[in-house]
Amino acid sequence: MIAQVIVDVSAYPVDRPFDYKVPEELQELVEVGCRVKVPFGKRNVLGFITALQSESDVPKDKLKPIAELLDIEPILTNEMLELAKWMTDHTLCYEIDSLQVMLPSALRAKYEKTILLKEDPTYLPEELQQLFGNKTAIPYKKVESANLLRVLKSCMKNGYVEQKTVVKQQGNVKEVRKVKIASDYERLQEIAESIPPRAKKQRQVVEWMALHVGEEFTPNEICETVSVTPQVVNAVIEKGAATYFQEEVYRDPFSKEVKGSIPLALTDEQEVALKEILHSVKSRQATTYLLHGITGSGKTEVYLQAIQEAINRGQEAIVLVPEISLTPQMTERFRARFGDLVAVMHSGLSKGEKYDEWRKIGRGEVKVAVGARSAVFAPFTNLGLIILDEEHESTYKQEDTPRYHARDIAIWRSEYHHCPVILGSATPSLESFARAKKNVYTLLTLEKRAKQQSLPKVEVVDMREELHNGNRSMFSGALMEAMEDRLKKKEQMVLFLNRRGFSSFVLCRDCGTVVQCKNCDISMTYHRSSEKLKCHYCGYEEHVPTECPECHSEHIRFFGTGTQKIEAEIYKLFPEARVLRMDIDTTRQKGAHEKILEDFGNLKADILLGTQMIAKGLDFPKITLVGVLSADTSLNLPDFRAAERTFQLLTQVSGRAGRHDLPGEVIVQTYSPEHYAVQLSKEQQYAPFYDQEMMMRHQFAYPPYYFVALIQVTHEDVLMAAEYAGKAMDFLRLKLSSQVGLIGPTPASISRVQNRYRYQCLIKYKIEPNLTETLKQLIRIYRTDWIKKGIQLIVDLDPSVI
Ligand code: ADP
Ligand code: ZN
Ligand code: ZN
Repeated sequence: MIAQVIVDVSAYPVDRPFDYKVPEELQELVEVGCRVKVPFGKRNVLGFITALQSESDVPKDKLKPIAELLDIEPILTNEMLELAKWMTDHTLCYEIDSLQVMLPSALRAKYEKTILLKEDPTYLPEELQQLFGNKTAIPYKKVESANLLRVLKSCMKNGYVEQKTVVKQQGNVKEVRKVKIASDYERLQEIAESIPPRAKKQRQVVEWMALHVGEEFTPNEICETVSVTPQVVNAVIEKGAATYFQEEVYRDPFSKEVKGSIPLALTDEQEVALKEILHSVKSRQATTYLLHGITGSGKTEVYLQAIQEAINRGQEAIVLVPEISLTPQMTERFRARFGDLVAVMHSGLSKGEKYDEWRKIGRGEVKVAVGARSAVFAPFTNLGLIILDEEHESTYKQEDTPRYHARDIAIWRSEYHHCPVILGSATPSLESFARAKKNVYTLLTLEKRAKQQSLPKVEVVDMREELHNGNRSMFSGALMEAMEDRLKKKEQMVLFLNRRGFSSFVLCRDCGTVVQCKNCDISMTYHRSSEKLKCHYCGYEEHVPTECPECHSEHIRFFGTGTQKIEAEIYKLFPEARVLRMDIDTTRQKGAHEKILEDFGNLKADILLGTQMIAKGLDFPKITLVGVLSADTSLNLPDFRAAERTFQLLTQVSGRAGRHDLPGEVIVQTYSPEHYAVQLSKEQQYAPFYDQEMMMRHQFAYPPYYFVALIQVTHEDVLMAAEYAGKAMDFLRLKLSSQVGLIGPTPASISRVQNRYRYQCLIKYKIEPNLTETLKQLIRIYRTDWIKKGIQLIVDLDPSVI
């Protein structure tokens, strides 16, 4: 028997399965979709069996056998194996990358360097001997941390030990130790009688056990019930009254209980939308719906009731939410409705927790998976519905290989399972809305807020005028007045800071020098808590300089407006205000996110101050004011989607105010008040925004009128990067038709990251049948030749930022 195996080697010029012999003893165990360890070159690597067959083209004596089978049951379904092929072809990655991305990280390949004993340990110097103890292999790390690398090297030279890289089996199943009481009542009686009277406690335990024959308890439960110590339980177990065993348990990712909820009576608009969707669920049609509903229009209630129908039919549902908006509030609404049938998958969980949630899905123990991008791979086998909430969010696109978009994967799976997809948003991406207009997607619209609340009043403040009037603070007069008013009325407010490009940097006031990262072409960010400068691209950090590195002036200090600085300014203006700050710094710890929101919900603060994180999903009745401190930062990004992103952000943020009984007010501060993205977001006027933005896209030949693909070439040497970007460009020009627009090579907008210079070429096209094949050829040239020269080449067929 021959197994075709996709191996975990992604530096190989060709991407294809390799043939391996299945050893006799594994023939009845191997299945397609199982992981294996196989020899490749000089070492063992992880692989996935993608096919089993009787013949191979490889000569018999060249065939190597599978070294080890890692799964008794397949961990990838046929659907996943097919999807991986499709994804490999559509994102131009290695198939192994597609396979691995579908699994929880606990199951991905991990390698560990190990030191093996080759001779009698007494040959080794004593320190090393001690490390081995009575083992024949120890981790390399152990030797390293014991500072014995030099000793190790000489022992390796003498052939006493050998270094090997081994595939590490991960994915620990969590187990607890439990006690199973013997099931023979008479036997227990005998044991009880044999216990000498001075061991009264032991006797008590056995007598108690006799009343619970065959039952299972944790040791703790027994100790508490009979009030004895663990030693006593141990002693009676030794006498044969019970046995220990290990029981598999799930880690619990939920930190708190939620109250249940029942389906609401729908509004007319919701009713119409739900009916359409249910029709597809029942008739098993793979329709893609674009649910365009203004903020607060009740999209989530539509999702919930549609999912209920899928569950009633014995099917499952996936709900995707963008990572940053994976607010506890959103997941809670699903748990409130479906209770234990919900599995949650997001980056806040530990590796083990993620693995447990994934297994619950695979075993069919839950019916709904709520999670960020990668939850689109939830291993359900009978999907009835897939939902992407806030479908316009850029986090749905993976920025690393495989560069897939969750929307495309969702639609692929919906076709496989014959079930509908709902793309929901108040501000759909231009691509999706254009597809809905062409009837590729079916448009469903919610124009009114579910509880008839009016949209908040939005005021745009021109910050240039504030400056003219001598106000140099971050707060306009209007915003300060409104804040004072809410503090007086004891209502709550949200202040929103656009984080990107807006953190504090250190600037010399004499010569204008900004402290930059020494590895990257980007300014360092000031962190007050540690008094350090950090680079957000490579992680490099250093102390805040006391003098300017250029002119040696002492007038060098931080500048700009991070959330910390704003917090300080609020306290200066309103000493009595209670502020909660939510940003990367305050939410690093697990559960911190939940805690901040809970405190805000419990009215423990007046002001919630934060970054993108707070833009979406927040729903608190007492919020009556939303302040956007600067709308401009996202407007000025060097990205063709800058206006779209700004419109989306402002609409989302405004949607946080006045969602319940109290009317809401929004104040947007900006240096470009006349911009259409700012103006049209005031009344959530999506249609005119769409029309205007589509005109711009047409004029500059951008999506959705054209597709774009991005080629990025990086190297440590700037000339090499430029040269090979030029070569890539020449190759494309030669192979592609004259219909295609080719731009570049140009330095990327951040031209150096981690000491590598970055050049890029942009391909704009409408229909270019030859494109994929051409790019594959380019990738092959890179993998066989350029890679040896230190070049890195990235191809992104649907870049979210250019
Ligand atoms: P969206 O997801 O479109 O922003 P939500 O689903 O969060 O809107 O709904 C906004 C508010 O309206 C929520 O508080 C929700 O409980 C409420 N709501 C939604 N549908 C109804 C309904 N049919 N009747 C009453 N309240 C509703
Ligand atoms: Zn200076
Ligand atoms: Zn850096």
